[in-house]
Amino acid sequence: MYQFVITVLYLTIAGLFAVCWFALRKWSTRIHAYLFFSSVANLVYDAACLLELRAKDQDSYVVALKMGYIGRIWIGLALFLFVVELCGTYIPSFVKGSMALVHAIIYISILEIERTDLYYNYMEFVIEDGFPKLIHTGGPLYFVQSALNLFYTFVGVFIITLKFIREKNPIARKRYMMTSIAMFSIGASYVIYYFKLIPLAKKFDVMIFGFAIGTVFMLIAIIKYRMLDAESLARKYVVDELSEGIIVIDAEGKIAYFNKPAGRLFPELTKGNLSGKGADNIIERIRFAIYCDEPMRMDNRVFTPRANSLMQDGTNVGTIYVLADDSEHYRYMEELREQKEIADEANKAKSQFLANMSHEIRTPINAILGMDEMILRDSSEKEIKEYADDIQTSGRTLLTLINDILDFSKVEEGKMEIVPVQYDPGLMVNDLVNMVSDRIAQKGIKFEVIFDRSIPKLLKGDEIRIKQCAMNLLTNAIKYTDSGAITFAVGAESAGGGSIMLNISVKDTGVGIKPEDMQNLFSPFVRVEGKKNRIIEGSGLGLSITKRLLELMGSDIHIKSKYGIGSEFSFSVSQEVLNSEPVGDYGHRDSKGKKHVYRELFHAPDAKILVVDDIKMNLTVITKLLKRTEIQIDTALSGPEAIEKAAGNEYDIIFIDHLMPDMDGIETLKRIKEQENKNPPVYVALTANAISGAREMYLDAGFNDYISKPVEGERLEKLIKGYLPAEKLLDTPDSV
Ligand code: ADP
Repeated sequence: MYQFVITVLYLTIAGLFAVCWFALRKWSTRIHAYLFFSSVANLVYDAACLLELRAKDQDSYVVALKMGYIGRIWIGLALFLFVVELCGTYIPSFVKGSMALVHAIIYISILEIERTDLYYNYMEFVIEDGFPKLIHTGGPLYFVQSALNLFYTFVGVFIITLKFIREKNPIARKRYMMTSIAMFSIGASYVIYYFKLIPLAKKFDVMIFGFAIGTVFMLIAIIKYRMLDAESLARKYVVDELSEGIIVIDAEGKIAYFNKPAGRLFPELTKGNLSGKGADNIIERIRFAIYCDEPMRMDNRVFTPRANSLMQDGTNVGTIYVLADDSEHYRYMEELREQKEIADEANKAKSQFLANMSHEIRTPINAILGMDEMILRDSSEKEIKEYADDIQTSGRTLLTLINDILDFSKVEEGKMEIVPVQYDPGLMVNDLVNMVSDRIAQKGIKFEVIFDRSIPKLLKGDEIRIKQCAMNLLTNAIKYTDSGAITFAVGAESAGGGSIMLNISVKDTGVGIKPEDMQNLFSPFVRVEGKKNRIIEGSGLGLSITKRLLELMGSDIHIKSKYGIGSEFSFSVSQEVLNSEPVGDYGHRDSKGKKHVYRELFHAPDAKILVVDDIKMNLTVITKLLKRTEIQIDTALSGPEAIEKAAGNEYDIIFIDHLMPDMDGIETLKRIKEQENKNPPVYVALTANAISGAREMYLDAGFNDYISKPVEGERLEKLIKGYLPAEKLLDTPDSV
């Protein structure tokens, strides 16, 4: 038996040497350090065991024992730390330090074993069946040491078993299993030794068997399952298999490491010379890309470079460059861009289609309204006038719809322009009131206008758009109110710097809006409460256009509404003040009832104009509208005809339609202008196509002005009057 134990001890010592050698050879992390530490501790312990087994008396036994404890005292702790590190469990350094301190203190008590009772409080040397041994009873530190060892081994076994259960990789599982068995056998030998569970345990320190078995399994884990290769395996599987290229440079700027993907991206790296010019170039290129915040394109892929400093204990020891493969991301962005372009194109096509359609529709409406105007002017029969009035109302509603669609596509295309002009706010309100008061009266609703008389007399802003916004709100109030009152309030407050905020609000006692419908009010073509509102005409565009127009003017729309009670829509726009005198009462300009009592603005029998349009009906409308002004009117149905007429006549104004087949208005204008002309006329574009920055376009093309179709008699007369020389204007009624 004695010989057997001696043999086991020698074999264990050899095994431990092997473990130490492996740990030293692969040394790169703390795992190796702890394994090395525990094996050396074990070696010392085993060597001392040999001495103990050869001891002849108590003194030599105690010397061997003290020597053995140099290792033995640390074995449990070192193994425990090894397992903890292997499994990636975090233990704060101060805990590890405290544990080590306790063991150091215990070891001092062992050195003083003969003089104190701290470790053993009784010792007697005997030789039993050839085994020298020390019969002893433990002191307090003996129990602390034993308890700590039991704790280490069993917690260690627990941690590693848990890791084994959770691990998916079969090789790693085996590795953990072997380590777990090793730990378990050491733990078991501890228990057997402390509690003397087998007879042999009474004769000598059976822990050496536990360590021997543990060593065997540890060796299996190291050799067969490449335990200490885990780190390099991790590098292979993780770092090298990353899609990211990684290059590390040291503090001197030399390349210290690069992973496989980096090697593939920069083959120069794999040629061995890591400190040459090629390597410098690579780092320069990466740095430049980082500096420009640009991705790097290589191998048909796109990489985003970034750099991080490598810090160790507060000093910079180098830089790690990471090239993240963002090809998918960029491909996705590219696709999105393409999709957006397609969507934009489709949207443009839609706007173009809307514009064309509206143009096509406006042309016949132009004729209908023009002819109808003639009936209203010329007929004296009451019934006929009533029919004509109805045609006028429906025609204008249709026109409003078309204009809404046109405006909407203009806003959508970003082509809606805000053109500030000087205007009289009193006149504007007067116009608005006149336009809606009849309709409100017809519905039997009360109409209240609250007008702030202190509003400055002359303002600068886009009168037409402000009017359009107010008009939208007023027509909505009329549409969605059946009884009660509509209050139209216009006020102003000083905004400093020569401007005012013009406040406009429209309040009604109509159907009101449900809170949940509020967010849909501004979605184009969406009408809330579709069923209820079906009988009310509308395109669902009014509010969205109003909102966008106000945004263009730096404002926004505000709504207060209670379902079933009524709504209030309001907005404020900043307007420049040109004349700060108070405007007084808007009502003085009341033109109520004037609507169809036509009175020409001037007579100009000596003036001559030419109107060019490919649609005969349009020419007829203009001719008829201007009949009473006695102005001489020539017409032409095409560009070439117009050029001919312009060459042989002296005109004051030439109206040219923009869209004509063969030769369009712009080309016609160019050709006419090329001809010699002593008194060049004023050129006015006629357009139904008010969609695209019309003003600039026509002025750029050489026109002096433009007028949109359907041509309104009054506007046309105003425009002509403005351009005719004073001597040709015979009389000017002062109504204007
Ligand atoms: P439309 O009136 O042509 O339907 P708008 O864009 O002008 O389109 O209005 C959108 C929706 O907002 C309307 O369908 C209506 O339901 C609601 N709305 C607008 N103004 C009022 C109002 N004064 N009272 C109640 N509901 C309103």
